[in-house]
Amino acid sequence: MNEQLKLLTALQKIDSIILSARLRMDAIPSAIASHEGPLKNAESACENVRQNHADLEKKKRDKEIEIEDIKEKINKLKQRTSGIKNNKEYQAHTKEIEKAEKELKRNEDELLSVMDSIEGASKALEIERGRITAEKSKIETIKKDLEKEVVKGAEEIKKFKGERKKLVEKIDGDLYGEYMTILKTSRGVAVVEAKDEACHGCDMHIPPQLFVEIKSSDEIIHCPQCRRFLYYVKPEETK
Ligand SMILES: [Zn+2]
Repeated sequence: MNEQLKLLTALQKIDSIILSARLRMDAIPSAIASHEGPLKNAESACENVRQNHADLEKKKRDKEIEIEDIKEKINKLKQRTSGIKNNKEYQAHTKEIEKAEKELKRNEDELLSVMDSIEGASKALEIERGRITAEKSKIETIKKDLEKEVVKGAEEIKKFKGERKKLVEKIDGDLYGEYMTILKTSRGVAVVEAKDEACHGCDMHIPPQLFVEIKSSDEIIHCPQCRRFLYYVKPEETK
């Protein structure tokens, strides 16, 4: 194989590694964001439960005030007994007290039911808060893992960039320029294998005479369709 082509092949390997490390790193913010959905759902569910809990607490306070008012009313009614002159008035008065006591009983029952609902809402709130904590800790773990990947990726890129520099120094300037142009226009792949009479970059069928040339010639040959550099690996060279 042409010595320069050998270098370009090695350069392509390094560039593919750097490119895939960069792609992995670029995908990290969206990977983190994709895990924030369940947290947001948990937070909004928790907010609904919290609002319901607060509404019930208000209902309880209102009910308690209402009960106090009724109790006061009953006390006042009971104190008024001394002013009653006849039986008819006494009966009417007793009826009024009974009515107020019934109202009191109804309100006390309602209070109990509100308190039951509060207990239920408190449990639901606890569950929702637990869900938020769990989702947050899940995200933290994912973030830590991804941060490690960022560090690893950055180290990998640094290491391969060093190797790349050494390699580029040995490559002919014009050839390197051509390589870079193809790399940019061909999704990061500028050097591909020609195998089974096909370009492994664009899958184009390579005419037999050109394929023979790629196999035997020391010239640098491009794919007629995608312009990528083509190299051939002899069967005994594959491991
Ligand atoms: Zn091609």
